This record gives sequence, structure tokens and C-alpha cells, in this order.
Amino acid sequence: MEERSGCLVCGKRLVYSDRHTPKRCFLCCKTAQGHTRCSAGHFVCDRCHALGAEELIERVCRGTDERDPVRIASLLMGTAAVKTHGPEHHFLVPAALLSAYYNTVGGPAMKRARIREARLRARNVLGGFCGFYGDCGAAVGTGIFVSIATGASPLSKKEWRLANLMTAQSLRTIAMHGGPRCCKRNTFLALGEAVRFARRELGAGIPMAPQVRCTFHRLNRECLKDDCPFH
Ligand SMILES: [Zn+2]
Ligand SMILES: [Zn+2]
Repeated sequence: MEERSGCLVCGKRLVYSDRHTPKRCFLCCKTAQGHTRCSAGHFVCDRCHALGAEELIERVCRGTDERDPVRIASLLMGTAAVKTHGPEHHFLVPAALLSAYYNTVGGPAMKRARIREARLRARNVLGGFCGFYGDCGAAVGTGIFVSIATGASPLSKKEWRLANLMTAQSLRTIAMHGGPRCCKRNTFLALGEAVRFARRELGAGIPMAPQVRCTFHRLNRECLKDDCPFH
């Protein structure tokens, strides 16, 4: 397994200068004083550096204007705060989707409250949900996304149908690849299903790169390798 040190974004060596200058944080896009960059030029502010996975996901998804959810998720999954596998992916999926959705359809002012709501809901989706409950948390995350984006509740009709259909479609795709679980593979599969669903059912033209390549396989002991569509 690889040990992470150096840049929080790419792992490269850090370069220090002898005085603080204002720099734009690569993760939260805010400007902060700093004297460290990596050799590839990434600057990460002290706040982002100290945050746990949930906080970091919320902060980055709130601040970015990126419209491709795979790019948002990949950026976050590349940080040391987000582990190779873990329940933080259950929040990462709806947070990246809500951010990309509101960045695409407009209304970025809604993002903050909606991403916070996703964070609270995703906490109920425990670690190991895929194997122990038969419901991968990345799939549940897409249902959370559609539920929040459409304002679904247990009493609504069309929105209820859409939210449950979303989970069903991503869960089916995830299941068909078989185990062992991989939070990266399942995140990519869930995001792909959600983007296609949002285009078709919500009329939201969220962009996504046609080909997704996983850069995390070295960290995953149980990687399916050639049987994974992203390998
Ligand atoms: Zn870097
Ligand atoms: Zn930052």
C-alpha cells in the first residue's frame, strides 16, 4: 500500500518559500496566505489541510463551479482525508452531484443548504452497507441526490418515483459488476448513472468526460483490475 505524504492533492514534494503570499486554494477556491506549494503548483489552504473527509467534501462541493461530478469526486478522492474505501463516499456521491447539478442548471445559492442536507441524510448510510444490507451507499447517494434535487418526500408522487428509480438503476449497474466492493468503482458507476438519469429525467445537461480512468487502483488490495471498467 502507498503511504501518502507531500501534496494533499497529488502527493508530490512540497516546496516552501520564506514568506507568506496570497494564493488560491486548489480545493476550496478561496484565497489564503501560505508559503507552501507542491512541485506541480498545488496550494492547499491550512483549513482544508486540517479538515476531515465530511467537512472537506462539503467545503469543496460548496465552493467549486465545476460542472462534471466525476472531476469533483476525483479531486476529493485524491486527498488523504478521503480513504480508499469508507462511508464518506456515501456523502461524496450526492455532494458532487448536487454541486454539479446546481452549477449546471443555475441556482448556486441553493447549493449550500442542499449539500448540508445531503450530509445529514448520508450519515444514516453506514459503512459496509453494500455487503451487509444489499444496498451500496453510492447507489443510495444517487437516490439522495434526486430526492433533494426534486424535493421528494415519502408523500410525493412523481418525485418519489424518480428518487427510488435512481437508486434502483445505479444499484443494478453496481451489482452487475460483482464484488468485492470498491468505493471508487462504485462511485464512478453511480455518478455515470446519475448523470444520464439527470439528463433524461430532470432535463439537466450535466457534462461528464466520456472515459473515466481510475487512478486509485494501487491503493486497493481487492481491485478487479482488468474486470473493472475503469482500470
Ligand atoms: Zn500537488
Ligand atoms: Zn482550501
